[in-house]
Amino acid sequence: MTGALARLLPGGVLLVVATMLPSIATLRDSLTAYIPVYFYVVFGVGILLAGRFDRSRVVLALLVLALADRALLYLGPVGFSAVAMLLPLDLGALSWLSERGVLTPRGRVKLMLLLLQLLAVVLISYPALGAVAAWLDHPIFESPVLHAVGLPEPALLAFALAFLLVTVRFMFHPTALESGSIWALIAAFLAVTTGQVGLRSAIYLTTAGLILVVSLVETSHGMAYGDELTGLPGRRALNEALVKLGDRYAIAMVDLDHFKRFNDRHGHDVGDQLLRMVGSRLARVGGGGRVFRYGGEEFAVLFPGKSVQDAAPHLEILRETIAASAFTVRGRRRPRAKPQTPPASAGQKKVFATISIGLAGPDRHHATPEQVIKAADAALYRAKKAGRNRLSA
Ligand code: GH3
Ligand code: MG
Ligand code: MG
Repeated sequence: MTGALARLLPGGVLLVVATMLPSIATLRDSLTAYIPVYFYVVFGVGILLAGRFDRSRVVLALLVLALADRALLYLGPVGFSAVAMLLPLDLGALSWLSERGVLTPRGRVKLMLLLLQLLAVVLISYPALGAVAAWLDHPIFESPVLHAVGLPEPALLAFALAFLLVTVRFMFHPTALESGSIWALIAAFLAVTTGQVGLRSAIYLTTAGLILVVSLVETSHGMAYGDELTGLPGRRALNEALVKLGDRYAIAMVDLDHFKRFNDRHGHDVGDQLLRMVGSRLARVGGGGRVFRYGGEEFAVLFPGKSVQDAAPHLEILRETIAASAFTVRGRRRPRAKPQTPPASAGQKKVFATISIGLAGPDRHHATPEQVIKAADAALYRAKKAGRNRLSA
């Protein structure tokens, strides 16, 4: 499964559960009793957590969902049309706003905008402002198909726009949080198209909130354990994996050859690109090897349950494929304006790289994983001394 798809899964599962639960007749009464608890726990804990992480996007999105739920309950049909239109617009816009903190001046402006919307929705619900409210239900396309969805056409349009916004955002940033935004929007859509305001709409809106909270936690976990540049698990993840090793394992330390020279020649950005590409090659190692970015241009490959002899052939294949691969990088001096007829390789060039590998396993002198890493490091040093682009064990 690709990374982006894997990231889409958790929100979808939550949404399926939220759809099925109210359909189970025997559960309906207890669901109705517990829905306020669900609401206050998700939004209470969620807003506190997002505030603690200083994620204004999530704080505001949770507020939007919670307010939408209350407005649907208390404000009647006009409130419904206004919420059905503002909810997607807010969620769509929030997915694109840059993160600028909760209590910063920008954060406060966003909060003010949200409160103004609340005020507007309340005002529109007064009969005296009926003319304004009528706009919200104004048919644009007058299509019977759209009518069947059960949403006023302006609201449908707002949802379409919002879907476009969150989907494009996810394509550019396939993170857990952006995936959560897509599911939250789908849940919001289901909430306003259930036909009646009540148990189902409340469950959908609160589940939208839960999806955002879960994806926030996932994103923070990813930031702590993953390496931002390569997307591989980082040093902290390695340390936790080391603790769980049994008696039999092998550890390889992998280091790019002459990488300082490469950086000097091609620039640091191109160096970063190469690191990313080498990282993704390494990740495809066979033999059950797990790759971590150890730091800088060094990677660690862990083979749980394997001996040095088991692991060595897989590392050799890796070393040979990398040495034989031409990596295509975007050059640092790209022309600012796109030339009229770009040559086939405009701004791109092919570069080559080699790696050296030190491999070790536990033995009488190196009993703990930390000592084995030291031994692998010593082996790596020997590989470098012996001329690089080789494996030493
Ligand atoms: P050797 O073959 O002996 O390993 O030589 P080397 O040049 O690869 O090793 P050295 O340790 O002297 O230099 C490592 C270089 O890696 C220095 C540093 O600029 C570069 N480097 C470390 N981390 C990064 C990074 O995240 N991005 C880029 N572009 N360069 C990095
Ligand atoms: Mg190094
Ligand atoms: Mg190096």
